[in-house]
Amino acid sequence: MQYHTRFAPSPTGLLHVGNAYSALKCQAWAKKHHAELLLRIEDIDHTRCRSEFADAIVEDLRWLGVSWQSPVRFQSRHLQDYQQAIHTLREMGLIYPCFCTRKQIQQEIMRMASAPHAEDVTALYPGICRDLSVSEQHGRMQHEPFAWRLNIDKSLAIVGADINWRDGSEYVHTVNIDHDIIIGRKDIDFSYHLAVVVDDALQNISHIIRGQDMEDSTGIHRLLQKLLGLPEPVYLHHPLLCDQSGKRLAKRNGATTLKGLHQMGVDAFKLRNFLSGAGALCWPFAQGDEREILNMLGKTR
Ligand code: GLU
Repeated sequence: MQYHTRFAPSPTGLLHVGNAYSALKCQAWAKKHHAELLLRIEDIDHTRCRSEFADAIVEDLRWLGVSWQSPVRFQSRHLQDYQQAIHTLREMGLIYPCFCTRKQIQQEIMRMASAPHAEDVTALYPGICRDLSVSEQHGRMQHEPFAWRLNIDKSLAIVGADINWRDGSEYVHTVNIDHDIIIGRKDIDFSYHLAVVVDDALQNISHIIRGQDMEDSTGIHRLLQKLLGLPEPVYLHHPLLCDQSGKRLAKRNGATTLKGLHQMGVDAFKLRNFLSGAGALCWPFAQGDEREILNMLGKTR
């Protein structure tokens, strides 16, 4: 059986060494299992994604020595596929339009006796629009912006309580989602979760190799796959590359970019070997520590 895996970055910035680490994990897995590696650009969020970052991702991955099977799939060119999934969930009566603003959700949560102390209370939706009448829904949809929310109780009732997912063949995780998640945002029509499960199925992805930061999303993906009748891929979540203080490398922490390393003259071959090295989980350079980086990963082989 031919296996397929994918690397699926979002073009909201330049790739950093943490992304490179993940891309190399996908490539190494694909080589080992004679699988096809696909590249997918997850660019449905037009408020944050930019085409120049998508171009840079392709360029930087090539420089790093990652290769993939053509064509590259750009999510923004396949919106009708996600629309179809929304339609299916709607026909099944599993999603409802939600007109709430962040402020309304916050106020409602604070009003509840057991107000949670979560940082972002709007992540926990208290169900304000869950039971609106069909005529109220239709009336308001004509002139108010709305998001689509998945009715979690109904969804879990359909798929059964024992829904779970495995990391490789190892630990079995129980899917545990406790509020009505957003499937289509007000400002962009589809959520990342919806697009990703539709694409993984359409691209015939058998194995998903991605960072442990995605583990929380995997439960949502399993639920959507079950509801939409999509196949279940095998998930393998790898540990994240961290800096010396143990903090994960991330765009928002100003992680070193591949573009920056390329421009400094770093040898891609050495960088690749370093990141692919057994157990390399630490990026041992302080931000801007160019001399040290060049000493270790500089031009001369
Ligand atoms: N697009 C996501 C990101 O850049 C990754 C999605 C995935 O691997 O499923 O974080």
